[in-house]
Amino acid sequence: MKRPLHRGKRLKPESKKRRAARIVAESVRQAFKFEFPVCMACRKRATTDCHEIVGAGMRQRTMAQRELWIACCRPCHAVLQGLPQSVKHATELAIKAERDPDWFSMTVFRAAKGGGEVVDEFDIELAACRLAELFR
Ligand SMILES: [Zn+2]
Repeated sequence: MKRPLHRGKRLKPESKKRRAARIVAESVRQAFKFEFPVCMACRKRATTDCHEIVGAGMRQRTMAQRELWIACCRPCHAVLQGLPQSVKHATELAIKAERDPDWFSMTVFRAAKGGGEVVDEFDIELAACRLAELFR
């Protein structure tokens, strides 16, 4: 018969090391949002969120990489998250290239992505043309 594991207390939800890293990352992200008080996507509404170009699974790493962040408002964040996979990264990179060019990096993007899907300059150019109609 299987016996349940007896553990005195529940597992720590987050290690000390992880917590320290998260706190640093959060303050840097706070500063990033402060630098872009207006949404990078629609350029109209106030920034509320920090969207990650490469998220889920890679979070631990991308959390500290400005090259992968987009400061945006809630409605645009929802649009970004709802984009079909085929155009999602090209659109995100187009925003990054236009609004935060010093921190646009295909190298960082590719490293975070770990190969697989390929986005090239042409896809990004195309996506850039559609930014105004996508984000209102
Ligand atoms: Zn917006």
